[in-house]
Amino acid sequence: MNRMRLVLGDQLNINHSWFECVDTQVIHVLMEVRQETDYVLHHAQKILGVFAAMRDFARQLVERGHRVHYLAIDDPENRQSLPANLGRLIEQHRIDTFEYQAPDEWRLDRQLADYAQNLAKPARMVDSEHFLTGRDEAARFHATRRQWTMEPFYRRLRRLHDVLMEPDGKPVGGRWNFDAENRKRWRGNPVEPPELRQAHDHRELWACITAAGVRSFGNPHAGDFRWPLNREEALQQLDAFVQHALPHFGDFQDAMSEHASRLFHSLLSFALNLKLLSPREVIDRAQTCWRAGQAPLAAVEGFIRQILGWREYVRGVYWARMPGYANSNYFGHQEDLPDWFWTGATSMNCLHHAISQSLEHAHAHHIQRLMLIGNFALLAGLNPQQVHQWYLGIYIDAFEWVEMPNTLGMSQFADGGLLATKPYISAASYIHRMGDYCSGCRYRRDQRSGELACPFNALYWDFLAREQDRLGSNPRLAMPYKLLQRMPVTERAMLRDQARDIRKNLANL
Ligand code: FAD
Ligand code: SF4
Repeated sequence: MNRMRLVLGDQLNINHSWFECVDTQVIHVLMEVRQETDYVLHHAQKILGVFAAMRDFARQLVERGHRVHYLAIDDPENRQSLPANLGRLIEQHRIDTFEYQAPDEWRLDRQLADYAQNLAKPARMVDSEHFLTGRDEAARFHATRRQWTMEPFYRRLRRLHDVLMEPDGKPVGGRWNFDAENRKRWRGNPVEPPELRQAHDHRELWACITAAGVRSFGNPHAGDFRWPLNREEALQQLDAFVQHALPHFGDFQDAMSEHASRLFHSLLSFALNLKLLSPREVIDRAQTCWRAGQAPLAAVEGFIRQILGWREYVRGVYWARMPGYANSNYFGHQEDLPDWFWTGATSMNCLHHAISQSLEHAHAHHIQRLMLIGNFALLAGLNPQQVHQWYLGIYIDAFEWVEMPNTLGMSQFADGGLLATKPYISAASYIHRMGDYCSGCRYRRDQRSGELACPFNALYWDFLAREQDRLGSNPRLAMPYKLLQRMPVTERAMLRDQARDIRKNLANL
């Protein structure tokens, strides 16, 4: 009985039970296909990183004695789509049974389910053995609750998986959440940890990808490629993070700086999303650091909340609401993305830095994604589907199951408040409080009107005024609405005109 097992590019978990024993009747298939390079315009590093990691994974499987059929992007036999290639390979290897791991993206889940259903042979989907929760666990948890919220779900997972818990069932340190302590501005001290990620030379692979006609954008950094590409390198990155950055992760979690792009973030999302690392081992490692006194509880809890809380929760939202979620547009926003989203060429210093950094490194940290780029997109009324496509393309860690709820839900409030309890918006004061961009900016952070006034200011107040019917009763926005109410009518009118002019002139900001 010949069995074929399909391994997708984001299923590179060498500890999966599939690979425990060598079986000569099993053939593992990995394929680089245009179907996957072309569904959105991707950053060059994303394509290069996924293909390089897949090739490394296939090499490891062969080294361990497994049979592998690897279809490279330029293989003349490559039919460039999963079903077309599977059909040919099933025939070629005289396969009796087809197996695949549960895909994380809806479009692949549908495609493979349809394929399996129409296959005239037994087919089976197995668990990817990666996440701490099942696809529908968040939906079941929220079935009897009035509203979806991350925090109770996270607390339940803390208890269930015994993470940062006392034996009596209480959270360690007496609190579940240390967010209030995690909001410091960074002024250069402590210094940003050095770049310790291994450099790879993937110029040959990059030449092969471009010769195959794959389109992309952003800097490939093919000769000095820094993202971890296998489990060993991902574990080294985890080591470096807990040693050098985790102790400061909490304090500077929300900080932004034009002088430091990584700050104290882990840069582990690509490795996690490719399944080179399991979330459980990353959580355990952080927890062990705290128990050993190597990192403060506020930092460790803040870090664990991102993985055990947000990462599992957004996945739950995705599976509960797809496919309709993709079309969410609560505010009916329709503006096109200005061209500078693809070049970074804007005079708004914060956005210039965040976007240029994204084009250069295929990465921006959470607050840059949320409170700079996403904040601007929402206030300016950019079309959320275009914003989603941009995020899905540009970040190396962007896979739809995690990117879409973050973009449409958390950052654009396009789902009307399913994922987030309020829109994440701010004027320049917050950006200045948490970052150092404003001093080098053409615009004046403390002005609301005039040619040099920071565009965030008028856009922020105008957005609140425009959306008062939808947002005015949200208790988390009570304070800004109180301030808006107290604003003289003339000032409100002035802000409305200023915002209208800004929205007409997005391309030239
Ligand atoms: P750290 O700050 O070190 O955090 C540790 C880990 O926690 C991350 O590696 C990640 O796995 C997890 N994490 C943190 N925040 C979130 C979150 N909100 N949702 C899910 N997991 C989280 N993350 C992605 O993995 N892929 C995406 O495509 C993606 N798109 C985003 C789009 C927007 C608009 C926003 C606001 C956030 C997005 N995020 C996404 C979440 C977050 O910004 C990234 O996970 C993080 O910046 C990755 O860098 P890091 O590994 O250094 O993270
Ligand atoms: Fe950004 Fe406004 Fe500050 Fe300029 S002044 S950096 S646009 S927040």
